[in-house]
Amino acid sequence: MTTTLHPLVTEARRLADGLLAPCAQRVDQDGVPASHLDAVRRGGLLGVSAPEEFGGAAAPDSVAREIAEILAGACCSTWFVQTQHHTPVRLLAGAAPGLAARERFLRPLATGELLAGIAYAHVRASPRVPVRARVDRDGVRFDGTVPWYTGWGLNDVMLLAGVTEADEVVFAFADAREQPGLRPSPPLRLAALTAARTVSLELDGLRVPAENVVRRTPRAEFARVDVPRSTNASPAVFGVARAALDLLGDTPDERGAAESLRAGLDEVRARAYALADHPVAHEHVEERLALRTRAYDLMRAATTAAVVAGGGRATSLDSPAQRLAREAMFLLVQGQTAPVRRAHLAALSGAGR
Ligand SMILES: Cc1cc2nc3c(=O)[nH]c(=O)nc-3n(C[C@H](O)[C@H](O)[C@H](O)COP(=O)(O)OP(=O)(O)OC[C@H]3O[C@@H](n4cnc5c(N)ncnc54)[C@H](O)[C@@H]3O)c2cc1C
Repeated sequence: MTTTLHPLVTEARRLADGLLAPCAQRVDQDGVPASHLDAVRRGGLLGVSAPEEFGGAAAPDSVAREIAEILAGACCSTWFVQTQHHTPVRLLAGAAPGLAARERFLRPLATGELLAGIAYAHVRASPRVPVRARVDRDGVRFDGTVPWYTGWGLNDVMLLAGVTEADEVVFAFADAREQPGLRPSPPLRLAALTAARTVSLELDGLRVPAENVVRRTPRAEFARVDVPRSTNASPAVFGVARAALDLLGDTPDERGAAESLRAGLDEVRARAYALADHPVAHEHVEERLALRTRAYDLMRAATTAAVVAGGGRATSLDSPAQRLAREAMFLLVQGQTAPVRRAHLAALSGAGR
């Protein structure tokens, strides 16, 4: 069975063509409306990777990737808000059966009754500890600053991470609302994806009950799993690149550029996804990084081609070309880790020669 036949892929395409793409210019300027997330939720897309026994679709990763490509190409801001949700779902799905947080949160997250955000990228900032966690009998206390939290005002709960004095990473669910110990900044004004309602969070003694704790793991152990995973190319990169190429017209020049870039994307995508499906995440890291970097190059070329082909009017805020070019800029840093940053800069250092 090809992934294009999966009903959730069909649903994503329907949503993309009928709602997300037609609204993308307005959303980029005005913000992601809650109704977009409701549509994603109603379509069952929030449960794509969740276990069936909890109300999810348990679809293979290939289906989740294809859906991500479709949503990101149609409206990168909406894709980005909803993509946060899939990390807590996967974490809970992999947690021990019977764990209180799993029993409490997995079903409502899988069915879309609750929408989750994440606040954990700061854990990668080692040796800095932007968020300190202190575990006691009643639960966890969090203090510090979460630099990035997307979907504020849209999602219901957040998966929050902090690091203990013993260098353990603690993941726990907290309500995604202002409360004693949790204060959001005003929405961040960014060159791209301002629409995704990203804020920073000041934590000053935020208390989370013990039954909301999902995982405690030594930071080195977290990095052992997290760092290799982050070397894979993001499906959103292919989605945005293809959306840009779809803007190219029918002149021989534009057709030539589109065909060449599409061929490059298809090849890199196939190789990157084959590695993403490889059972050992920490193998072939150099190749994964090379493919991730190559995917970025092709995405930048594709969005640049759309701007060049569009001429001056491509710079109008009404133009999808400039929006996709800005979204592409954002994707260059989304999920960036130290090895990803190093590999990307090394590749760029060769570009001037
Ligand atoms: C608009 C937006 C929304 C986001 N929303 C979320 C969210 O909802 N939840 C969430 O968890 N994250 C979110 N992020 C974070 C995001 O996924 C990335 O993890 C983040 O952009 C990585 O960069 P940083 O700027 O936070 O980290 P930085 O501290 O700049 O570092 C990135 C990586 O490079 C390394 N590094 C930095 N400087 C150097 C250097 N000089 N030499 C060597 N290595 C270095 C760091 O150790 C780190 O691993 C968001 C980011 C953006 C831009």
